[in-house]
Amino acid sequence: MHLVESQNANFSVDFKEALINPNTPQGGLYTPAFLPKFDGYACKNLSYKEFALELIKSFKFGYEETFKKALKSYDKFDDKNCPIVLQKINEKLYINELYHGPTRAFKDMALQPFGVLLSEFCKDKKILILCATSGDTGPATLKSFENNPNIKVACMYPKNGTSLVQALQMRTMKAENLRVFAINGDFDEAQKTLKNLLSKEDFKNKLKNYELCAANSVNFGRILFQIIYHYYAAVQIGKKLDIIVPSGNFGNALGAYFAKKMGAKIDKIKIASNENKILSEFFNEGVYDLRDKKLIKTISPAMDILISSNVERLLFDKFKDKRTKELIHQLKNQKYFKLNQNELESLREDFEADYCTDEECVKFIKNSKILIDPHTATCFKLFNENKIQIISSTAEWSKFTPSMMKALFQKECINEKEDIKRIAKEFKVELKPEILELFDKQDESVESIESEEVENKILEWINQ
Ligand SMILES: *Cc1c(COP(=O)(O)O)cnc(C)c1O
Repeated sequence: MHLVESQNANFSVDFKEALINPNTPQGGLYTPAFLPKFDGYACKNLSYKEFALELIKSFKFGYEETFKKALKSYDKFDDKNCPIVLQKINEKLYINELYHGPTRAFKDMALQPFGVLLSEFCKDKKILILCATSGDTGPATLKSFENNPNIKVACMYPKNGTSLVQALQMRTMKAENLRVFAINGDFDEAQKTLKNLLSKEDFKNKLKNYELCAANSVNFGRILFQIIYHYYAAVQIGKKLDIIVPSGNFGNALGAYFAKKMGAKIDKIKIASNENKILSEFFNEGVYDLRDKKLIKTISPAMDILISSNVERLLFDKFKDKRTKELIHQLKNQKYFKLNQNELESLREDFEADYCTDEECVKFIKNSKILIDPHTATCFKLFNENKIQIISSTAEWSKFTPSMMKALFQKECINEKEDIKRIAKEFKVELKPEILELFDKQDESVESIESEEVENKILEWINQ
């Protein structure tokens, strides 16, 4: 199967091409023309990696040996045999822990295998990967390409928009092929800078022999791996269920929707937002309205996003390319679009949505029997006792200790390393060393730059 462009389905490229160069001629996103059927329930007894390979094969992209290699990257997770941990809380509630990889957030689920795919596809090329992060994509991308001889990564993060642990994860990675820029601005600013550079011919020409690529979830190579864990978990439980997803750029939730279309017995995909409730408005009212909205800083920073890129793939799947183009152009030009009643009803067949304030989020953390991070906590707003539900748990709590201290003990965090140990002891959980070690690593004070300076900084570095 080839992937088509969301704003012009007559244009298609093969999987490898879409992965290496996610930039499309019309400015849309590469996405499957349709979702293949896959009988995951017949694969119940396969291991996670075997299940994943069967699901990927159903797309008929080819590259089977390369995918096998990519899936081996899950050997680096806590349990070599299965990268996820599906916890049963009670008859109605399961938590799908997706953060057992090297950087303790679900971004590793896709970026670890993605890193192998890109390296394998680009053995005879030099690649510069641009990455804009709200906190977790950055560390996961840097980790995935650390010391790769042909691939350089330039990563931008909003200076005051991530947790300390997330910033340290990026700043303490010292490999020669990696550069990190703290920018003055929020995530939307970082993502905008990235999109501008990706399409700027003059910039590309100055990169000499480097080709430009992006690791954000605009890349279909990431979405593919985000279908698998939803389907796999649904198969393990076996019954019809809902999946609740803490959402920002809508990559994770889109994976759940694609899993449903492929055959997973998922009833509703429930979208949890924080106070940046653009997605909950979208699914409840059918409007995407950026006019006079300002980004609000919350305790779930990875969801502090207003421009949710992957909604475009959903529009394509539901309403086809012409309508997608129309809606996305309206959003660009008028900062607003509105679906008609039929379209909204079509969304409501698969989705529900609500948002969770910081205040509510703190209560959910405090009242939870197990440790949950502030992103995962937003999902409890959508939990109801009548159905079986899986909450998608996207990060380990240890990345957000100041918020955890406030929620659990109503205390300010003074020494983050000590407080992490204290919480772990109190809840009798074992911690992997990766997070604690960060506090012992050298961390030169960072200089932040304006987003306009990023271009020159990258060129200086590449051409030195
Ligand atoms: C990235 C991220 C999210 C949002 O996921 P999307 O796929 O962008 O919707 C939620 N929680 C955490 C911890 C994240 O890192």
